[in-house]
Amino acid sequence: MKKTKGSELAEKLTFTQPHIADAAPKAVEKAQAFCEDYKAFLDAAKTEREAVKEIERRLRKAGYQPLDRTAKKPYKPGDKVYYNNRGKSILAATIGKEDLEAGVRLMIAHIDSPRLDLKPNPLYEDTDLALFKTHYYGGIRKYQWGVTPLALHGVVAKKDGETVEVHVGEEAGDPVFCVTDLLPHLGAEQSKRPLSEGLKGEELNILVGSLPYEDEDVKERVKLQTLALLNEKYGITERDFVRAEIEAVPAFKASDVGFDRSMIGAYGHDDRVCAYTALRAEIDTENPKFTSVCVLTDKEEIGSMGTTGLNSDYVFHFLGYLADIQDGNYKLMLQNSKCLSADVSAAFDPTFPDVMEKRNASFLNKGVCLTKYTGARGKSGTNDAPAELMGFVADILDDAGVIWQTGELGKVDAGGGGTVAQYVANRDIDTVDIGVPVLAMHSPFEVVAKLDVYMTYKAFAAFKASKK
Ligand code: MN
Ligand code: MN
Repeated sequence: MKKTKGSELAEKLTFTQPHIADAAPKAVEKAQAFCEDYKAFLDAAKTEREAVKEIERRLRKAGYQPLDRTAKKPYKPGDKVYYNNRGKSILAATIGKEDLEAGVRLMIAHIDSPRLDLKPNPLYEDTDLALFKTHYYGGIRKYQWGVTPLALHGVVAKKDGETVEVHVGEEAGDPVFCVTDLLPHLGAEQSKRPLSEGLKGEELNILVGSLPYEDEDVKERVKLQTLALLNEKYGITERDFVRAEIEAVPAFKASDVGFDRSMIGAYGHDDRVCAYTALRAEIDTENPKFTSVCVLTDKEEIGSMGTTGLNSDYVFHFLGYLADIQDGNYKLMLQNSKCLSADVSAAFDPTFPDVMEKRNASFLNKGVCLTKYTGARGKSGTNDAPAELMGFVADILDDAGVIWQTGELGKVDAGGGGTVAQYVANRDIDTVDIGVPVLAMHSPFEVVAKLDVYMTYKAFAAFKASKK
């Protein structure tokens, strides 16, 4: 049937965001296969420290060498180096054919996720139960963290110089831990609280024991019994909690979601889904035109402060070392660089449509989300990527056949948020946000679509391989 003039014009001038399964049907099977390894990564990397360990293992396996900061001769195109920053953030690079002054292709994602951290003095006994006090890390909806199985992950830096790892609640047969909540029969008063106080910060206490130490002459016998078990297993005393970082995270593993297995439910997609896809793209980059740098950072969820967060100089020290070794002009390198700040976006949830503006929201299965700005209250606190940069990245994605969408973080004045983009852009590097749409972000069980994860990998690989 002949098209009308109007329908021809509409086809030419308007845009409708396709479902990836329609626009790229072959991607469905590829995404399934790609995401099997992603689930394994999630299970192996539930904290920033574990993520760094797992990433370093994968980098070494792929032939990356530790950066030699005092190297006397420049690295060759195709050489692969990495730098482990204090075991909590990590950088990897593949040297390009062009001089560093032509700029680097920088990708940044974060590997910390919201969770419950133990307080420095966590252990106490109340009414014959032993519990841990916690201080939550990052933006959580506190009521979501009650009555869900928790595992404890972390380290204790002992006085004898040894750092012992704590890792309980993940293996088959391990005990788990939990924050308790009231029964509905007695919940009438609690139910009148606003949702944000359904469980209050000081009610996020983790149940860890209930048996007394056998000697009836001592006080707080359940606490003592807990300490005795910890001392037996880790050689630590109560005072050593001050020298520890122990994080309570959901104890379950990543699973497929849906009859069609099209989605993944897991703890910590934000932002390990971008960290994983960025890492895979970095490892797969062979002989790029521009030097490729991949940064997987800590502390994003609490404002990027500290030596392992993006607001510190560690990334720029790394770039400075590279410039020295390659004998390139550091400032020119920064000015000519392009950065993808890879972080998740809030996917449209049909159960809660009111917080989104449908024309400018991101959706599951519609591709990697390119975000011009984040922020809150009139774009406050955002890196607002310039039109030229949006065009530059859009061209790379289009040329590589990547299905991508755009979206804002909710309706104007509905809330908002930020990413690390500002810390990079403030250093004179063109930066734009991009990432995977997520449902139930910051909850213990976040959901992503496999097709979006796969398209995000394709987007990052295309950015690193780009010739312009
Ligand atoms: Mn994030
Ligand atoms: Mn986040």
